Amino acid sequence: MLIVEDYLPIVGKEVIGSLHAKARKLYGKRVMHVNATYYGGGVAEMLQTFVPLMNNIGIDADWRIVPGPVDFFNITKQFHNGLHGQDFDLTEEMKKLYVMNNGDFATYAKLDDDIIIIHDPQPLPLIRFYAKRQPWIWRCHVDLTNPHSDLWEFLAPFILRYDRVVVSHEDYVQKDLPNEHVIQHPAIDPLALKNRDMEEDEIALHLFKLGVPADKPYILQVSRFDKWKDMPGVIETFKRLRDDFDCRVVLCGSMASDDPEGIQIYQQVVEDTIEMRESGDVILVTDASNAEVNALQRGAAVVTQKSSREGFGLTVTEAMWKAKPVVSTTVGGIPLQIEHEKTGLLSAPDDFEGFVRNVRRIMEDPGFGAELGRAAKEKVRTDFLITRMLSHDLDMLNDLLMEGVPPRV
Ligand code: UDP
Repeated sequence: MLIVEDYLPIVGKEVIGSLHAKARKLYGKRVMHVNATYYGGGVAEMLQTFVPLMNNIGIDADWRIVPGPVDFFNITKQFHNGLHGQDFDLTEEMKKLYVMNNGDFATYAKLDDDIIIIHDPQPLPLIRFYAKRQPWIWRCHVDLTNPHSDLWEFLAPFILRYDRVVVSHEDYVQKDLPNEHVIQHPAIDPLALKNRDMEEDEIALHLFKLGVPADKPYILQVSRFDKWKDMPGVIETFKRLRDDFDCRVVLCGSMASDDPEGIQIYQQVVEDTIEMRESGDVILVTDASNAEVNALQRGAAVVTQKSSREGFGLTVTEAMWKAKPVVSTTVGGIPLQIEHEKTGLLSAPDDFEGFVRNVRRIMEDPGFGAELGRAAKEKVRTDFLITRMLSHDLDMLNDLLMEGVPPRV
């Protein structure tokens, strides 16, 4: 189990000391996180290390998952897409099932902690089923630049009951909501299996076991199978480059338990790449362990994240921490992380030619790629490590508890 002092060599004494100081008034406070999946996406990824660390620093933090039938997750996936701006037909039936499933969970989930933190839209309506005795925070990890308007009107009455709305980017602040907003950038754990340092021979062993030969450089994208992540666009990019560079593409994908669309997109990628997989030009990796994802990222010549929408993009942070050149798009939280030509390369999401050109630049000049990678790692060290997120959360909890909220009953 990791303790806060394990991060000392990475972030220094001042940061660790300030975390302890900020935690002092929060000792023993009970904080409950609720989301919809244990694995397969950025939120689960963060909570896995964040919740134990909160405990280590003296807070009584816990984590619950809202369960539900596949119908519920089909609906919440449409809501997720709708918050990202996609049009769909919001029916009364969907609204009913969404609220009812949360109501069922509330009949036995005893959310009586000092602070409740609800992540993303799936458990958002839970708040309606509790007599409020403590601050509730809605932590929305989705890109809210242009949410589906009917969906937004439907969700607003739930959101209004929250004491803070936390979003990943200032562009996601909703002007129509009087709620106090907080902007918090997500973060990675540099000591987690996914990100810890790895020796060359360990990297090689993982790649060998995953069937990734060491004979050529490879372009990598790690993503959920999700239409906004544009895995097919990465394959198209490879097709444009393969005559000039002897390389291959590795797509490492997962399906979160709360994401029923994933399997369809996965199947589509499988069908579209039959020949290229047979020839070894495309390697598809599924169900990779955290250590395997780590090795894949470290072994790559270029890491892409060709998203057309993105909440924040932890895969970008992870690759940057490994000092990799990342080629990505100007969506969501990605430009907060990558400064074009300094810490990676960016193009507009609809600029396919620009994206191909950027990957080409790295393939042509690995020295330039290494330079971008070095700067990328320092950017993550200062801005996107879990210790910074913990510090920020402690500020918010102190702030909320000092507002004179009555004690738990
Ligand atoms: N991930 C993984 N295996 C995969 C695909 C993704 O472990 O096959 C992880 C990835 O390393 C990252 C998270 O899932 O930690 C994705 O987070 P991100 O913020 O990039 O996107 P989200 O899935 O939350 O939209």
